[in-house]
Amino acid sequence: MQSRETLLRQIPAVDEMLRLPAVEAWAKSRPRAVMVEAIRGALADLREHILAGDALRPEDLDPARLLPAVEARLIAILRPSLRRVVNATGVVVHTNLGRSPLPAEAIEAIRRVAEGYSNLEYDVARGERGKRFVHVEGLLRDLTGAEAATVVNNNAAAVLLVLNALAEGKEVVVSRGELIEIGGSFRIPDVMARSGARLREVGTTNKTRLKDYEEAVGPDTAMLLKVHTSNFAIVGFTEDVPVSGLAGLGRRRGIPVMHDLGSGSFVDLAQLGIGPEPTVGESLKAGADVVTFSGDKLLGGPQAGIILGKKDLIEKIRRNPLARAVRIDKLTLAALEAVLRIYRDDPADAAKKIPVLAMLTAAPSDLKRRAQKLAEMIRREVRDRAAVSVQPEQSQAGGGALPLGNLPTFAASVLPADVSVSRVEALLRESDPPVIARVKEGCVLFDPRTLRDADFPVVAQAVGRALGEAAAETGK
Ligand SMILES: *Cc1c(COP(=O)(O)O)cnc(C)c1O
Repeated sequence: MQSRETLLRQIPAVDEMLRLPAVEAWAKSRPRAVMVEAIRGALADLREHILAGDALRPEDLDPARLLPAVEARLIAILRPSLRRVVNATGVVVHTNLGRSPLPAEAIEAIRRVAEGYSNLEYDVARGERGKRFVHVEGLLRDLTGAEAATVVNNNAAAVLLVLNALAEGKEVVVSRGELIEIGGSFRIPDVMARSGARLREVGTTNKTRLKDYEEAVGPDTAMLLKVHTSNFAIVGFTEDVPVSGLAGLGRRRGIPVMHDLGSGSFVDLAQLGIGPEPTVGESLKAGADVVTFSGDKLLGGPQAGIILGKKDLIEKIRRNPLARAVRIDKLTLAALEAVLRIYRDDPADAAKKIPVLAMLTAAPSDLKRRAQKLAEMIRREVRDRAAVSVQPEQSQAGGGALPLGNLPTFAASVLPADVSVSRVEALLRESDPPVIARVKEGCVLFDPRTLRDADFPVVAQAVGRALGEAAAETGK
């Protein structure tokens, strides 16, 4: 066995690698800088192995032997950074994995608009400048009964814009039980500070009564704000004021009420067997003057912030300079219009056509059958390297909706025979496409709720490969 120092000295030089015929062939069709980066990366890995004291033989440092590592680096450098992954986590609206997969109609709408010019801000009938929100305002009014509607880049932007437009320099009354933080450090108090509105906190974490709001209202009050607590629930000794209560107070004192619904839904999810989550229509009926929610949470559309409400307030919001800074992009708008059309024109099929709704409402019996099918496919790939079974589990809606769960599912569960489960999980992420799975009690779980049937063979083969590689690494 050679010393570390000897091994380190034997690491080939970048120039030596560049002269290998295989590298020269690759370099013909690729920028030299890319080749150099791939070689440097492979050599840096080798150096780390040596420093970590891994058992290396002198021939492992042979330039030709390093070619597979260089090629793997090259492939990684040349492939798009933003790419498809397989979501086996069972978290339907997974913010880190791009939230909502879009229905075919929305993808087609994006393609149509992306390919060429469009009437984005052009009134074709009059031959003059138009407004981009007109493409969805009518649909949103029809779907919710709102007087007026507009859309922006996302719901965080919607909240910021509404607060700035309607409450800058004034007070907004909000319950201490609703001062939430959502993923990615979106904190209601911070957003309010940026909007120029002043926060007037009332009540306590677990209890806020109408009287608390009443006492806080004064000449400086611009708005009463209710925030859907999204990703958590306060249970036990609790009390909060429903939108209807705030609306009554708002009307008596001439103050608008805003409801940040977070994950608004057009359909009553309780009727589909999940929930409860408040619907957008309910919030408006209860008397909210402005309602905001995301396009890509329970709605199952593209990233967007939807703002509905009273005509005069929506007008004021549209005229605010921030509206331009947070405006919706045309591809998003195309997708959003397509999704809203499904909800309005084809409501009976919405739960089939919109992937998020289809996944949320999947029947446990179907999930069980699919988990069994997936488990069978995995079993064929892994042979005796792991025990594969089907386990009752819980999926999650994600996106801050339905925080208390109640989405029973069945997962294919893989218990590796003699390699580390965390190594298998990591190798699954290194697959192409990466397979993102959950580890629980020594098993890797694959929830069919967020998988398409076409993903099953991809998952099964990735599991087979990951177990094989993990075994090879440990020399088993
Ligand atoms: C998710 C959420 C937001 C932020 O919405 P984005 O579309 O992610 O910007 C704001 N408020 C609430 C209550 C939320 O749940």
